[in-house]
Amino acid sequence: MSLTRPRIILLLLFLLLASVGLRQRFAGEEPLSRSRILMGTVIEITASGPDRKALESALDAAFAEIARIEALMSPHLPQSEVARLSQSPEPLEVSPETEAVLRLGLEVAAVSGGAFDLGLGRLVELWRVAGERPRLPDAAEIRSALRGVGPDSLLLEGRMVAKADPELRLDLGGIAKGYAVDRAVEILRRAGATSASVNAGGDIGLLGERSGRPWRIGIQHPRNPGEVLAVLSLAGGAVVTSGDYQRFFEIDGTRYHHLFDPRTGHPATVSRSATVVGPSAALADALATAVFVLGPDQGLELLGEFPGYEGLVVAADGSVAVSERLRGGIEWR
Ligand code: AMP
Ligand code: MG
Repeated sequence: MSLTRPRIILLLLFLLLASVGLRQRFAGEEPLSRSRILMGTVIEITASGPDRKALESALDAAFAEIARIEALMSPHLPQSEVARLSQSPEPLEVSPETEAVLRLGLEVAAVSGGAFDLGLGRLVELWRVAGERPRLPDAAEIRSALRGVGPDSLLLEGRMVAKADPELRLDLGGIAKGYAVDRAVEILRRAGATSASVNAGGDIGLLGERSGRPWRIGIQHPRNPGEVLAVLSLAGGAVVTSGDYQRFFEIDGTRYHHLFDPRTGHPATVSRSATVVGPSAALADALATAVFVLGPDQGLELLGEFPGYEGLVVAADGSVAVSERLRGGIEWR
């Protein structure tokens, strides 16, 4: 077949149309990224999908969902269910979602032997105020802030929640962000996103893969800011890290951070960071906090009780422990 002029023109036209079509197709798949400050942290959402317009509104809906959960579970908003529960000496009926998060938190509290605790509101507040000066709370203040704390501090009957001690103040800071991340990922999935990541200050939820390849999630070095310790390759699921570098103050070179050992009322001393990988960000969030408090040995043992959940712990001495099934999927830096 010889290429006559009309044929060449037709061929060129075809190539032009094909390239425009391809470009449009890939433009539709190009990820959309937005960030907002919610739940006291920067939330970054990146998502891709075939319908750009639908994706734009899905991102808005995902942020709105996180704001809605913050309004339910923040200890700082006086009208939140959690704040009302803290204030109420009487049992209170909560939403099915708050009930579900409380139940999950209580399960981790029980299995971790109390390393995770939903009732640390007064302790968290005591240390927050102390950090403003900064000074160390004294033993009497700590003892008083720990009153009523423990895995049996809340009794749930259906959606009715009762505090064993009326003075107990709730703090869902160790689990609520993870729950919000799960919800945001679910909203993006339902809106037709084919791939997404939601990062709420170290609580990361993933949908699908990133452009046909696994997501590569860097775990921050707990002592060298900006340095990545290891990279995990993941298709979907959640990665959550609790670290002593996220929020702290120092007195005489000692670091006092925001992850407390409920047995002592002081910041836990056995870890620098704990990362948990698994299907749900809510459970991974609670587990990361518990594993941080327990340290590498007991922490990884705890994860053994939760099928599908793996972890990496940087101990206080800088050594790194990794649960067996995670080892193959890690790239060290
Ligand atoms: P995360 O960064 O998810 O580990 O959560 C830290 C937040 O959880 C803190 O700022 C406190 O609000 C709360 N928290 C601290 N220690 C504990 C603990 N042992 N159990 C449950 N929540 C905790
Ligand atoms: Mg947590």
